[in-house]
Amino acid sequence: MATPTQAITSHSNPLDIMRQAQKQALSGGAKSYILRPKDGESIRLHILQEMTSGTVIYMHRLADIPYKAICGNELGVPCDYCARAKAGEWKLQAAPFMYLPCAVAVEDESGKKSIGVRLLELYAGKNTLFAKLEKFFSDNGTVCSHDFAYSRKGSGQKDTTYEITVQLSASIFKPAVLTQAASSMTPDRIRERVAEAFPPAISGEDEVGNATVVESNVVEGSSSDEYIPEF
Ligand SMILES: [Zn+2]
Repeated sequence: MATPTQAITSHSNPLDIMRQAQKQALSGGAKSYILRPKDGESIRLHILQEMTSGTVIYMHRLADIPYKAICGNELGVPCDYCARAKAGEWKLQAAPFMYLPCAVAVEDESGKKSIGVRLLELYAGKNTLFAKLEKFFSDNGTVCSHDFAYSRKGSGQKDTTYEITVQLSASIFKPAVLTQAASSMTPDRIRERVAEAFPPAISGEDEVGNATVVESNVVEGSSSDEYIPEF
């Protein structure tokens, strides 16, 4: 059965296991696949899939804390949150999120730059990124024609605002790189990454998130902007 996270089976060398864990720790873990600017940061990105073919995944957003979990049903496992929602905790009900793969310029620990693929996370609501992008799509018929800047102001729960604005200047990404990056994206791969970032609550099992490690996509020994890290 497919598990939501990858075990460390491919790294039998103890040092490799620790190096992998170190890389994971420094890169912020699987959550780093989900695009999230820091306070004051602006991320230049190019969306690789239209919203009409974006991957929709049901997620549980836990009330009042900035954490969510993929619904177990997405992975074919019994979902603890769905059970609790059914039992009366209606705030735990799953809601659809759309994940769009984007090309972004990434920097590793040594400051080397390359092009990476990350996921833009969208959910329904007033003034959300979804609302803003959906309007752009309705007006222009595409979200893949231009780069966007994804920025954030504020760091608290209440005062944080996210903005996504089209960049009318030429794309900073080469067309061939975008084509290559887009071709590596599949709904299964996206679902896998989301499950790694936000593990499900599985009834009757130990927490899966702590015992496992995912492949980091930090680039080693490459400064070429032609190189796309493994997603
Ligand atoms: Zn669920």
